Amino acid sequence: MSTFPAAHTTPLLTPAGPGWDDARKAWNLAVDQHPAAIALPESAADVIAVVNCAADRGWRVAAQGTGHGAASLGPLDDTVLVNTSRMRQVSIDPVARTGRAEAGAVWADVVGPAAKYGLAGLAGSSASVGVTGYTLGGGMGWLGRAYGLSANNVEAFEVVTADGQLRHADPVSEPDLFWALRGGGGSFGVVTSIELRLFPVTEVYAGLLWWPMHRASEVLHAWQELTHSGLPDEFTTTFRFMRFPALPDVPEPVRGRWFAVVDAIHLGTLAEADALLAPLRRLRPLTDTVRTITMPALSHLHMDPEHPVPGVGDGLMLADLPAEAVSKITGVASAETGSLLQVVELRHAGGEMKRARPGNGALAAVDAEYGLFAVGMAPTPEAATAVGYGAAAVMSAMAPWAAGQMYLNLAETSRDTRSFWTPQAYERLRRVKAAVDPADMIRANHPVLPARPALANTPAHDHPTLQPAG
Ligand SMILES: Cc1cc2nc3c(=O)[nH]c(=O)nc-3n(C[C@H](O)[C@H](O)[C@H](O)COP(=O)(O)OP(=O)(O)OC[C@H]3O[C@@H](n4cnc5c(N)ncnc54)[C@H](O)[C@@H]3O)c2cc1C
Repeated sequence: MSTFPAAHTTPLLTPAGPGWDDARKAWNLAVDQHPAAIALPESAADVIAVVNCAADRGWRVAAQGTGHGAASLGPLDDTVLVNTSRMRQVSIDPVARTGRAEAGAVWADVVGPAAKYGLAGLAGSSASVGVTGYTLGGGMGWLGRAYGLSANNVEAFEVVTADGQLRHADPVSEPDLFWALRGGGGSFGVVTSIELRLFPVTEVYAGLLWWPMHRASEVLHAWQELTHSGLPDEFTTTFRFMRFPALPDVPEPVRGRWFAVVDAIHLGTLAEADALLAPLRRLRPLTDTVRTITMPALSHLHMDPEHPVPGVGDGLMLADLPAEAVSKITGVASAETGSLLQVVELRHAGGEMKRARPGNGALAAVDAEYGLFAVGMAPTPEAATAVGYGAAAVMSAMAPWAAGQMYLNLAETSRDTRSFWTPQAYERLRRVKAAVDPADMIRANHPVLPARPALANTPAHDHPTLQPAG
């Protein structure tokens, strides 16, 4: 049995040790994590040492970059949490138009360096989200309608699998593992770095249009019509029912108040964007910030919280948004409901993200037109329960329009993981999992269990009736 930390100096924190309470915090402060131990690796070699140590001790292993996606991870008492936040190096290859990010890098670490070369990655709305977790789950970003999911724009991964091997996964070397990591989530190993395709985008025409909350219904109807009007892939919009927190550091004019907000992002010319936005501008927004901005500025457009906060939320993919659905969501999400939610958001999806190209990964496409997400602040367990009910009410009101397939990154509650992929992709993911991690040592927030080769070799937790050997 190896003693930890073998040849490396990775700190392994245990519950009695100093720094434990800080280390176990997830970005989402509403999640109270109690793992068996926490590792803070600084290199792929450290990760190998941690995985080997966990194997020796009979622990499972859960990788975490930020803890944005921690809400659905579940109890961790038999698990070493591999916190990759000390692995944040990023390098850009401007000739190949690629970026290599270590596992703990967040999008802010990539966006700035890439912009220096006039390049952009397929980031989502928040600069503080981890590149790795986001991309393993798919990655639906502002440029996604034009260029596709982040997962389908990965050149290669470095990943430590459950056997303690560091593997290079690309289309030639480890093609099955490479396929699984592109949208199959974090069940297949601890990723130590990721090589992303970058795109020659330096500026976009983007901004926010704001209306007072009592205009929400007419604005949402107009937005819904806009998204049904055959928009170009270069044009992306979202609609939000949004309440500013009633906190002292929020400017008085907006503090605690609700607004209807449209985000608009366009990769084409100003003239095209102005023509597309005309129906919304005719509704005379209070504020219109749409203008040419840089890619680093785009990272902050959505005003997602930039520091850890306690949040409870959930999401759903919608196949369509007919006028009836607009009325329904206005009924459950607007200010008059007394909802404790902070934001109820509809994102226009589709475009290249909906096209399943032959070379794509496990999440070949997101077969939906809209992403719905509802979230509120949950500083206390009571608030968490109330906000959870509010989010569940929005999800159930919109269930009649749910797409057949759910999207992993928006699921903040435990789901039937089969709902994230096509049946064929799900079965293939389980076979890849069985090949690289038959004992299900690596656990993800939305786990894929290994295919069962034979009952005798099946992990005990895959069969509630079997008990671990004593
Ligand atoms: C404010 C906010 C904005 C968001 N915006 C978007 C958006 O625009 N588009 C979108 O698609 N999603 C978005 N998301 C969802 C986000 O993509 C998911 O929460 C994602 O899981 C976050 O990844 P992370 O690495 O930051 O989180 P973590 O909680 O650290 O990781 C989430 C999961 O990813 C896996 N994982 C992470 N690191 C590794 C690793 N090194 N090896 C193996 N597995 C690993 C694990 O399974 C882990 O449980 C947003 C979330 C928030 C909170």
